[in-house]
Amino acid sequence: MKTKILISLLLLTALCGPAWAKLNVVSTTPDLASIAAEIGGDRISLTALAKPTEDPHFVDAKPSLILKLNRADAVIEGGAELETGWLPRLLDQARNAKLAAGTPGHISAARGVPLKEIPTSLDRSQGDIHAAGNPHYLMDPLNARIVARNICEAFCALDAKSCDAYRANLKQFTDALDAKLAEWQKKLEPFKGREVVAYHNSWLYFGDRFGLKIDLFLEPKPGVPPTPRHLAGIILKMKEDKVHVILVDPYLDRRTAETVAAKTDATVVDVAQFPGAIKGTEAGYIPLMDYLVNSVSKALAGNK
Ligand SMILES: [Zn+2]
Repeated sequence: MKTKILISLLLLTALCGPAWAKLNVVSTTPDLASIAAEIGGDRISLTALAKPTEDPHFVDAKPSLILKLNRADAVIEGGAELETGWLPRLLDQARNAKLAAGTPGHISAARGVPLKEIPTSLDRSQGDIHAAGNPHYLMDPLNARIVARNICEAFCALDAKSCDAYRANLKQFTDALDAKLAEWQKKLEPFKGREVVAYHNSWLYFGDRFGLKIDLFLEPKPGVPPTPRHLAGIILKMKEDKVHVILVDPYLDRRTAETVAAKTDATVVDVAQFPGAIKGTEAGYIPLMDYLVNSVSKALAGNK
């Protein structure tokens, strides 16, 4: 009986093949994948190239990633040079005309996002990897709204017959996001103006949206490892300004943050930009933001 059903299913799939074909979408990072999943639902198949715990600036460009890009109908990139160190090389080797820049299959998530910290003069000599502005814009939920719309428009261009479904999913996601944003803002409201230290400058947009000042970093420049001299300055500033929270992404050196925390009576908070990097955030962008707002507010409340 089971075999019979299987054969019927296989026949049906063969007959209806093209109509059932899912859009094969590859995103660079898991945050983009989680938003694409909200829009595409079961009409797309989805792979993220970077792992949730991987540094998005320095992804291991394994040959298996080339194969994924080779078979994809579309690639979603964060842009603002976030993937500049690894994606162009992978795309070159994948030789997939569907993903060429300027085609509907090359989706730039950052389109229309108001990027911050765009340098007035381009100077990479000191190792700053945020050469086109700060690329960690998805930590502001309002930017997630823009990204969701960009992805929806791109899916409509690639798969017009499912456009109504993509638009309905977009509305559902943005409605949920709007409701949550009000909740998150209320939760962080009591801490408005408080200063927070971050290891890497990936929390600027989060801080700006929720009224926190996140402008002291353990790295002297984005992508440049901390030096004893720089850390001594940060410790001094933390004591002066009474800063008691340090944010660390999973791919950075937590021990350095712990050393600084021990000298400043601070709490180290594990944060992540990517769903699944921290237990309990696997379900997507909104659960990840829930975790971030809760853990940051808890740390700020504990050290008043
Ligand atoms: Zn960065």
